[in-house]
Amino acid sequence: MKKGSLISLTPRGLYCKKGDFYVDPWLPVDRAVVTHAHADHAYRGSKSYLVAAEGESLARIRLDPESTITGQKYGEKSEINGVKVSFHPAGHILGSAQVRVEYKGEVWVVSGDYKLTSDATCAPFEPVTCNYFITEATFGLPIYRWPSPKKVFAEIDEWWMRNRDNGKASVVFAYSLGKAQRILNGVDRSIGPIFTHGSVERLTQAYRESGIDLPDTTYVGNVTNKKEFAGSLIVAPPSAQMSTWMKRFGPQSTGFASGWMMVRGARRRRAVDRGFVLSDHADWPELMSAIKSSEADTVYVTHGFSEEVVRWLNETGINAEPLKTKFVGDDYESEPFA
Ligand SMILES: [Zn+2]
Ligand SMILES: [Zn+2]
Repeated sequence: MKKGSLISLTPRGLYCKKGDFYVDPWLPVDRAVVTHAHADHAYRGSKSYLVAAEGESLARIRLDPESTITGQKYGEKSEINGVKVSFHPAGHILGSAQVRVEYKGEVWVVSGDYKLTSDATCAPFEPVTCNYFITEATFGLPIYRWPSPKKVFAEIDEWWMRNRDNGKASVVFAYSLGKAQRILNGVDRSIGPIFTHGSVERLTQAYRESGIDLPDTTYVGNVTNKKEFAGSLIVAPPSAQMSTWMKRFGPQSTGFASGWMMVRGARRRRAVDRGFVLSDHADWPELMSAIKSSEADTVYVTHGFSEEVVRWLNETGINAEPLKTKFVGDDYESEPFA
């Protein structure tokens, strides 16, 4: 990063020297500004965290209770050592934010993970103009174009109904923060009872407390009569798939909800009966739209297909460079078939 000097890449993560703070640092620091509560962005161990107030309850579940966590509402500006910092909705999960950083007229936006598709479980993505835009590229190839979520939820409903009529449980695997709640909000809750894995239940409760409309769910561990599972929908994280935890449900059909389900052979590789194409990340048209609406002079592209996106942008006259950040963690959409 040569031209802009406000934010630079360091071994701990994106760093604003003037303000002496990091954005989504992957090693412990004194002051972290965090885009959202997924584990590959909200790392534990830092002294203090500034997060969007709308995602504060999720950050408190995910981070160390001993650290200082401060919430700041979308659109409100604060100053850190003279540098203006504000959060703007990223449309990715509840409380997800793009971080806008401004000093002496130079504006950066670190968009974290985002999507433009509408989603009843979080505030919609808001375009923010800037000089320097840092974007992810998880699904940064022109082949990635999401079907409408309405259509996908109808597919899930139909699958669930058919299983119910055959006396089977429907187990859908979805990342426990964000995707699971989107499914809960999107399915037809009149079809039958809904059960959750423990990791899903706690986060779902936090969503409810934030005012998100979700159907009633029962934690699987609280069920004594296993016959109750027949005809129900069970929402579980991908890690539960191969465990003995699955045995209790009896006759069952399995499904997996992820953007990666668009890839040929993905359903088979995941060894599930059904694949549902549902992503919390931008598809190709959404990436292009967000990049254009940022009106940035320079676009830094991280994660996923960054080289491909950079090449495309450069060919279309937009100044872009890849940015080699470290992305690890348990965000299943970042780690295909891990
Ligand atoms: Zn994320
Ligand atoms: Zn991520």
